[in-house]
Amino acid sequence: MRLGLGAKFSVAVVTILALTMAANTLYFVHTSSRFHENQLVERGLALGRLISLVSPDAILGYDFLLLNDYTRQLGSQPDVVYGVIVSAKGDPISSYVDECHPDVRQHLQHNAASGILELLKQLESQAELTRMEFPIMHNDVLLGRFLVGLSKQSLQDQFRRQLTGQAIAWSAIVVFLSVAIHAVFRFNVMYPIQTLIAASKRVGRGEHTAVEVKSTDELGLLAQAFNAMAEEVRKEQDKLYRQANFDTLTGLPNRMMALDRIAQEIARSQRTLQRFALFFIDLDDFKSVNDSLGHAVGDELLVATAQRLRATLRDSDTVARLGGDEFLVLVSDVENDIRVEEIAERLIRAISEPQHLGGRKVVARCSIGIALFPDNGDSIASLMANADNAMYQAKAGGKGSAIFFTEEMNTRLHDRMQMEQDLNAAIESGQLSLNYQPILDAATQEHRGAEVLLRWNHPERGPVSPAVFVPLAEATGQIVRIGDWVLEQACRNWTQWSQRGIEPGFLAINISRVQFRKRFSKRLAELMTQHGVPPQALELEITESVLLDDHTHVAEELNSLRAAGVSLSLDDFGTGYSSLSYLKRFRFDVLKIDRAFVHGLPGDPEDVSLVKAILAMARGLDLHVVAEGVENQEQLAFLTAQGCELAQGYLLSRPLDEASYVRYLDQRQAGVQPLQLASARGRQRRLAASA
Ligand code: C2E
Ligand code: MG
Ligand code: MG
Repeated sequence: MRLGLGAKFSVAVVTILALTMAANTLYFVHTSSRFHENQLVERGLALGRLISLVSPDAILGYDFLLLNDYTRQLGSQPDVVYGVIVSAKGDPISSYVDECHPDVRQHLQHNAASGILELLKQLESQAELTRMEFPIMHNDVLLGRFLVGLSKQSLQDQFRRQLTGQAIAWSAIVVFLSVAIHAVFRFNVMYPIQTLIAASKRVGRGEHTAVEVKSTDELGLLAQAFNAMAEEVRKEQDKLYRQANFDTLTGLPNRMMALDRIAQEIARSQRTLQRFALFFIDLDDFKSVNDSLGHAVGDELLVATAQRLRATLRDSDTVARLGGDEFLVLVSDVENDIRVEEIAERLIRAISEPQHLGGRKVVARCSIGIALFPDNGDSIASLMANADNAMYQAKAGGKGSAIFFTEEMNTRLHDRMQMEQDLNAAIESGQLSLNYQPILDAATQEHRGAEVLLRWNHPERGPVSPAVFVPLAEATGQIVRIGDWVLEQACRNWTQWSQRGIEPGFLAINISRVQFRKRFSKRLAELMTQHGVPPQALELEITESVLLDDHTHVAEELNSLRAAGVSLSLDDFGTGYSSLSYLKRFRFDVLKIDRAFVHGLPGDPEDVSLVKAILAMARGLDLHVVAEGVENQEQLAFLTAQGCELAQGYLLSRPLDEASYVRYLDQRQAGVQPLQLASARGRQRRLAASA
């Protein structure tokens, strides 16, 4: 059994008091029984002396009546059981016997006729009697003796009564003291301790109430210390709660908290049969802000975005930062889609309001994906996935817009995921192959080289366009492995053709931004050595998106490639950022005009002026230009007239599979002058110019 502190204390107090009282009583018993015995003896002595003093005259005068008077007087004395005057020879002369005494009564019952001496003999064995004998003398002559017996019985009875009374009194005192001490202890010690225990349990449950400090003693100090500790715990828990649920940069709820709010909103909306809207907001090209203006400005932009979103919405709506440049807005009780559209417009307007950050004017843009409860899902996972999916579509569809989730998007998403899986097995199962699209001299139509174009022949879907699967492979990182396969395959083919005496010209290989991040130049150098491919044989097509990545790393990679003697071509020029500062900072050899601008030539005045401007700029920067997507003679004639050096397109040749390309090369080689390596010639031209 577990004893509480109060019980232990009470047991200890009662035991100590009881032992003290018991010891006291024992001492009392001991001293008072000796005292009473002494008193008895004293009384016996007094009686004996008196009788032996007065008796000689009565004995000498044979006055038995007087002697009887003396002995009768003994009856008035308590405790005297018998008193007998015997002659010098021992014969009884006068006696008194207390016949009420139990021992005497017992003797008389059994021996009614016996004499007094027999009775005395009988009583000799009784321990409770105090017997005394006094000589009765006259002039030094022994006249007789006085025998007296005193009973301790009444003394003992009296003593027992006294003891019982005392024990009861002591017990009452013990009980009273115990109760009083227990009450004082309970109120002053146990109660504060129990209050502290209860408060500690509350702190354990995360509730914080301070305990009252009632005294200045140790318990008061303990209560004070407890309050200080509980306050520290509360602050620490607050901090942990904030860290776990809020974003430190913007102060907005974080992903955890956002998910919690969505769960609550789902439960509420299910009860009230209301709809709510989830907005997934992603800043467009946030990375370029970080890269060009620095991370501090990037952070400022995130904080400003958080404030603008917050200011646009009601207090009851949730704005959270999911991470990076992703925000989430939850708007409850939306009546119709028009209201949701209005909110989306307001959010886009608020974000794209020009602002000054880090001393620069910045106009931020965002893409928004919208999912509605219950229309687009009734669980956190489905709503989040669908809003994210819609946001992805908004980005893909040209950024700066808001898009509602549709079932079609879902199908596309599943399609995309399936394709991702299928792409994993594509290399091993030989589904990938390379096409080669010739690049010719625009004026003379001499063969210069070819762009290497990846093909995927899906076992069920048939041919899948690289425009579809390459972005997917980039998003999943699969492009690193696939790109490596393209490079190796292209190098191997180039060497095989050269060894067979075919002059393949240069090969322009598309390199993804993702691939470029993984120490690309080192890998390329390895492959070139392994397959014996000279640097002039290779041209690397990269898009401007590569230049958005970490500048120092990109610059280092590009420099290594240039040092190795490989040509660099800027692909799809005009469709991306087309920042002139990029062209200045990173040196390229070739610029490829995207087919979107070639398409409208020569009728579309906008395309005409754009292409003219690009060609003029390229001349100024001493860049070769390839026009992509040349589909008809008019386009080719215009480009040639404007001095565009190289052309590629269906007019000249469609992308050819390996066998067709070899046949094409054979025919060309048989018919026309020896082919030159364009890059080699370009380099010679640059050397001549610098000389
Ligand atoms: P790109 O680098 O701009 O490639 C040129 C695209 O234009 C090719 O499409 C080509 O078939 C097409 N094309 C050529 N001439 C004409 C024409 O006269 N008219 C029209 N309408 N189109 C023409 P393709 O092969 O579908 O490739 C699309 C994109 O996929 C490429 O654009 C490139 O960005 C990417 N890609 C292709 N192969 C690879 C690769 O091996 N690695 C990487 N990272 N990306 C690749
Ligand atoms: Mg290309
Ligand atoms: Mg291109």
